[in-house]
Amino acid sequence: MTTAGGLYAGIEHRLAIRAADVVLADERQPLTGAELLRRIARCAAALGSAGVVRGDRVAVQTEKSLAQVILYLAILRCGAIYVPLNTAYRSEEVGYFLADSEPRLLVCDPANAAALEPLASACGAAVLTLDGGGSGTLNEAIERAPPAVSAVTAGSSDLATIVYTSGTTGRAKGAMLTHGNLLDNAHALISAWDISANDVLLHALPLFHIHGLFVALNPLLLAGGRVQLLRSFDPAAVIAGFPSATLFMGVPTHYTRLLATGALNRHNTATIRAFICGSAPLLVQTFREFEAATGQRLIERYGMSECGIICSNPLNGARVPGAVGLPLAGVELRIAAESGAPVARGAAGMIEVRGPHVCAGYWRMPVETAAERRDDGYFRTGDIGRVDAAGYLHIVGRSKDLVITGGLNVYPKEIELLLDAMPGVEESAVIGLPHPDFGEAVAAVITRRAAAAPPDVESLLASARRQLAAFKVPKVVFVVDALPRNAMGKVQKAELRRRYATTFAVR
Ligand code: AMP
Repeated sequence: MTTAGGLYAGIEHRLAIRAADVVLADERQPLTGAELLRRIARCAAALGSAGVVRGDRVAVQTEKSLAQVILYLAILRCGAIYVPLNTAYRSEEVGYFLADSEPRLLVCDPANAAALEPLASACGAAVLTLDGGGSGTLNEAIERAPPAVSAVTAGSSDLATIVYTSGTTGRAKGAMLTHGNLLDNAHALISAWDISANDVLLHALPLFHIHGLFVALNPLLLAGGRVQLLRSFDPAAVIAGFPSATLFMGVPTHYTRLLATGALNRHNTATIRAFICGSAPLLVQTFREFEAATGQRLIERYGMSECGIICSNPLNGARVPGAVGLPLAGVELRIAAESGAPVARGAAGMIEVRGPHVCAGYWRMPVETAAERRDDGYFRTGDIGRVDAAGYLHIVGRSKDLVITGGLNVYPKEIELLLDAMPGVEESAVIGLPHPDFGEAVAAVITRRAAAAPPDVESLLASARRQLAAFKVPKVVFVVDALPRNAMGKVQKAELRRRYATTFAVR
């Protein structure tokens, strides 16, 4: 463990410099650097009273708010480890993350507290709700907390966060990101996108994923810019917010939805100096339509929970539609064959990366950690790509059959396991199909169990809705006689994707 430069120390330093300036705001409340520091310190004191100490995990499943940003920073200030959880997860799903991460504390919304309390207490975690009055709330703990003590000095190899990312096995893995990982990636982004104290980022992303947290928040806070928080992505509110902002980050679905309003034009986007897009493949068509409407070329970038941002199209230089750009400063990137041998220039292979941004491994999963790491330290991303003559990376597929719908990841195995257990279902294959709004839509192909009543698709979907977050529930179910398989017995998902490609008729 080193003692140099934690992420929080860097943020605290910048907020102190920006003491009199608004650095974080929502539609109701602007917070100056000084006020934000005061609130973080109070929140950290309350966490301390709840028993949170350095190295403890704090799981957070709350709706997006200023208080959630303050909580994230207070957790870092305590030297504790932030474990963000998607708000769409049902209690059973949250139960897995609690059992795996064993947090000291779970902070949730009041509406979910009753359902989550037994799951939290089963793994020894206390529960506080983020908002609302009365006992058991973080607000009340803040009122009662003793004066704040000074911030814990985290070392660059200390863990800052565990971000859960599901694998094809269906078992979610916690990517362990250190203060050094986050700090390094934030500085690389500040330099790639020229982020400064003059910037105002219109923030419409969720706060449970690396995009909204570490790609959007950290660089702005470290550069002393301002983050204008929107509760959710609402196209009209986003367009209304553009004239007072200089930066916007979104997933491809955000851009297609903004275009669908018909209200985007050069005038209402003129103050935005960079529209940045990532987390899922951006259609060339969307890139072109956006340019036609606004005169601006989107900056597509590529990253993942385990590594932060890896590549970006340049701020100054050619932004190539269909490419995710050039490696960021400090990122070593190569395209390798399954054996690890480098492929010929321009050929497709596994994207492998090395550098200070790559996570320390998967929480309590040494086998999976070792499986993704080459002997020379390169991390196997699981994405297939090729590098063109100009050095730009193009993603051509995913070796993991991940479906990305509206910027959210769905891992087929989890849905398949659930469908396979349903009455009348013999087996299932879950795939992503091109969708004009979501980028990809979750689709299920099932076969019927011999000698059983045929599966009732409606009740199967109703059951899936009860057990899964809405974004994971298949948008369509096809019942077939048999799934296509290769000689090794593996289901040929590429064939299924081809067969049903036009189901949602992409424009
Ligand atoms: P996550 O860990 O949730 O951030 O998901 C990471 C995965 O999203 C990557 O491994 C890629 O498969 C995919 N991804 C992220 N950005 C892009 C992009 N610009 N184009 C294509 N796929 C992307």
